[in-house]
Amino acid sequence: MQELSIRYLKGIGPKRAETFSSFGISTIEDLLYYFPRRYEDRRNLATISGLKEGETQTIKARVLVKGERRSFRRRAFSITEMAVEDDTGKIFCVWFNQPYIKNYFANAETVILHGKVERYGKRLQMANPEFEIVTEEEEALSVNRIVPIYTLPHGFSQRHLRHLIKHALDEYLPKLQDSLPFDVRSKYNLLNLAQSLLNIHFPDSDELRKQSYERLAFEEFFIFELPLILRKLKRKEKLGIAHKVDDKFNSEFIKSLPFELTGAQKKAVEEIKLDMMKPQAMQRLLQGDVGSGKTVVALIAAIFAVGGGYQVAFMAPTEILAKQHYMKIGALNKKARISLLTGSLSVREKEKAYQDIKEGRVDIVIGTHALLEEGVVFNNLGLVVIDEQHKFGVSQRAILPKKGANPDILIMTATPIPRTLAITLYGDLDISVINELPPGRIPIKTLRFAPDEISKVYDLAKEELKKGRQAYIIYPVIEESYALDMQGAKKMFAELKNNEFKEYRLGIIHGKIKENEQDKTMLKFKEGKIDLLVSTTVLEVGIDIPNATCMIIENAERFGLSQLHQLRGRIGRGAEASVCILVSEASSPEASLRMAAMVHFNDGFRISEEDLKIRGPGEFFGRRQHGLSELKIGDPLAQMHLLKAARDEAVRLLDNDPDLSQRQHGLLKVKLLKRFPEYEKLMASV
Ligand code: ADP
Ligand code: MG
Repeated sequence: MQELSIRYLKGIGPKRAETFSSFGISTIEDLLYYFPRRYEDRRNLATISGLKEGETQTIKARVLVKGERRSFRRRAFSITEMAVEDDTGKIFCVWFNQPYIKNYFANAETVILHGKVERYGKRLQMANPEFEIVTEEEEALSVNRIVPIYTLPHGFSQRHLRHLIKHALDEYLPKLQDSLPFDVRSKYNLLNLAQSLLNIHFPDSDELRKQSYERLAFEEFFIFELPLILRKLKRKEKLGIAHKVDDKFNSEFIKSLPFELTGAQKKAVEEIKLDMMKPQAMQRLLQGDVGSGKTVVALIAAIFAVGGGYQVAFMAPTEILAKQHYMKIGALNKKARISLLTGSLSVREKEKAYQDIKEGRVDIVIGTHALLEEGVVFNNLGLVVIDEQHKFGVSQRAILPKKGANPDILIMTATPIPRTLAITLYGDLDISVINELPPGRIPIKTLRFAPDEISKVYDLAKEELKKGRQAYIIYPVIEESYALDMQGAKKMFAELKNNEFKEYRLGIIHGKIKENEQDKTMLKFKEGKIDLLVSTTVLEVGIDIPNATCMIIENAERFGLSQLHQLRGRIGRGAEASVCILVSEASSPEASLRMAAMVHFNDGFRISEEDLKIRGPGEFFGRRQHGLSELKIGDPLAQMHLLKAARDEAVRLLDNDPDLSQRQHGLLKVKLLKRFPEYEKLMASV
């Protein structure tokens, strides 16, 4: 039954079927899963005499007169007016510039109107209300109940669609089978399918509507999780390297570090160690806020591999960052032979590096995309580390592991998100979290100033410079843009250097400057030979310069929240207090929310939650090309508990029945294959 075409419904011919199909509705089941956009509670409709100015209310009324007039002042502007009454009074409704509206009311006697009540002169009116014409025999679905309001496919009215769906429910619900296993439903007290579909469309009460919603969201999450979990199970069946981790060798190394690991770092190290010792290939995500000390954890993992005679590839998204890792790792360890491989090596240097890697004279190769080149052949690659993984494409990330025999993989990200979401978003990865900063860090103070307060901002920066500290000033673009009212890094560099900051040493980096020039400038900054560094977002990732204690971000509204947080992560890395200054005019409510989030929160997990809230899951996940944005009703942030429960159950189910071959899972399998046809292949190979 689930697959019956929508054409089986009365009144649906080829044309309507096509309209529906552009809404993703081709079967009757699809139609039943086409949920209302909102509801109107018409159980206790307002009376006209009881309407309150400023509130959005719903009334049922008789049509008295209707007409159209032109605006006096603007002739092209039409106003459709209608007077309606109920037993308590009369009110006018007006629609601006929708002259076709009066046609709808040609034969109307009774209408439902839903809109905001406004004062117009002495009287109240409803402006641009949504409306619905009701006739006696249709009242059952449209009045005296909680009524569904749908996004309408072209050519449909609310009541038409409502009737169609009601008809489909009446006819087919009894035949619809529930794909959620009974034990899962009873464990979480979920409504059965028939009840929940009935009540998501025509709720008997708010409570039932809520329960229906939860049940359907759970189901959606559940089906969404199954393939992710399956992929993970499948991966774990393939053998990789069981690293032999020499505890003495490693604890010596850890003791040699200039600092004690934080508790969170120790925990991550332990998780990674156990994972690396298993015969299956590790695929682990290391999440941690900027500055939480991920690099050293990755280095310890590298030392685990090197101790057992394997090579490690460590890839970073930019040359500056790769070099920085190279220097830092060089300073921290005496055990491993390291080398740097980036695009700016000469051909001869490259050839030599290739030889060394191939013949096993290097233990840890740190580099950029240059590591992906065909000439790079490892002798014995045992671990791949990818820093700032979101900067690489999926296919890029896949290349490096192929250079070994199913090596372990450690992926790092400084855009941490809540664990439940991360598990879902990064599907088949295991996850370690560093949720603690090294001791002694002073939280960064973040301030916001308007563009006309810029001299105050410069004064704050100078205060830092006078103390011998360094500062960054970030611009959204290289060249200024009058159209967008944005200052550019290049021009401002010249201006600041000659005026405001002429006593100081300035440097500039941006994407149009050659990489080795950028590097030279960065190095000078690092060595304290530059006081103020003007930059674009090329600075975004990784740079670690503890003496930089001030960052000014111009046109801060131009940046996304996680980008702002990443940028801010460049300061606050030393023992001195740091200040981050956002210079921004509130260009939109969203931008204001982002600025406020930056001012109030320092914690990256909190920041990404805010980001999700502000942008909504579609935008947030969409950017990451992820299926979560396709969820129809489940909201992963608001319903995190349901998402988690659904995932737990999906794990349990697949543990016992990995290819859904048990009879009671047959329907689930059908549903799953409909949404994710590629699952068939995955199952075959389990
Ligand atoms: P991120 O997580 O942003 O990659 P890094 O690994 O660059 O952070 O670490 C930030 C700084 O903190 C580095 O200078 C690093 O040496 C230092 N650091 C890391 N772990 C500790 C620790 N446990 N105690 C003190 N300093 C640490
Ligand atoms: Mg890092």
